[in-house]
Amino acid sequence: MIPAQFDYELATSADHAIELLGGYGDEAKLLAGGHSLLPLMKLRFATPTALVDIGRLEDLKYVRDAGDHMAIGALTVYEDVHFNEDLIRECPIVAHTAGDVGDPQVRHRGTMGGSIAHGDPASDIPTVMLALDATFVVRGPGGEREVAASDFFKGTFETDLAVDEILTELRVPKLGGAGWSYQKFHHRAQDWATVGVAAVVQRSNGDVGSAAIAFTSMNDTPMRSHAVEQALASGEDPASASQHAGEGTNPVSDPLGTAEYRRAMAVVFTRRALEEALSR
Ligand SMILES: Cc1cc2nc3c(=O)[nH]c(=O)nc-3n(C[C@H](O)[C@H](O)[C@H](O)COP(=O)(O)OP(=O)(O)OC[C@H]3O[C@@H](n4cnc5c(N)ncnc54)[C@H](O)[C@@H]3O)c2cc1C
Repeated sequence: MIPAQFDYELATSADHAIELLGGYGDEAKLLAGGHSLLPLMKLRFATPTALVDIGRLEDLKYVRDAGDHMAIGALTVYEDVHFNEDLIRECPIVAHTAGDVGDPQVRHRGTMGGSIAHGDPASDIPTVMLALDATFVVRGPGGEREVAASDFFKGTFETDLAVDEILTELRVPKLGGAGWSYQKFHHRAQDWATVGVAAVVQRSNGDVGSAAIAFTSMNDTPMRSHAVEQALASGEDPASASQHAGEGTNPVSDPLGTAEYRRAMAVVFTRRALEEALSR
């Protein structure tokens, strides 16, 4: 339970962090809230030569109204997102889901950017980002680039980030009148999702007009459910469309549930997500 030895570097700006990363090749890791990285280091699943601490970069801790979207600084902790009045008004699914992550200790230390950059398919926030078609801002030695959430997650703990890049901002669209829901099926309140379902629904005459559905813990990355989305688009009602939730998924079997159990729960929680989204 003791990490291997590592150098510690304190970054004073995002550009300083990029410079420090560059000096270590692929041997260094950024340290934000540490709630994913440090447990891996203690188990020695991760043995970085150096940690570049970005946890004190105050200019990356914010929630801003940016006109057509809300901008969230990568170092913003879940707790600040959960209680942010502007997000609660403009994109409530993000504020709501941030309050569903882990326990109070995790929510006071864990960051939105860390959740995205870590690339864990069991994390809640990446799923919501996929359902929202969010955009991520990434900075590296060559400048800044934007990456669509749909292009960002490459595999378990694998993302589009290069070793010398830092995620600086998450951009989420304002929901307007869209219905929304994040259903997290977990055994105890502070647990990870055995299955999670995010739904963002555009209504048409009280029914689903179109919907974006995304899953947690149903593949090696967070994933959109094209099967459910297509069923809804072709006119199936929520109960019937939810029956397609297992299609195209590839969940793991672990002590929280077998793959078969997860597929069955995805059906149940997709229906609940659609019903709740329509009622909001
Ligand atoms: C007990 C416990 C329960 C938890 N329960 C849940 C849960 O229910 N749901 C859930 O979604 N999560 C859960 N988590 C995970 C928690 O949300 C993580 O803390 C968070 O996902 C990672 O954020 P962090 O700031 O701690 O990142 P860190 O641990 O500091 O970093 C994680 C990884 O991301 C990289 N990184 C961090 N920030 C950046 C950045 N800005 N740019 C580029 N790379 C970066 C790091 O180098 C590292 O590889 C839990 C964690 C614990 C310890």
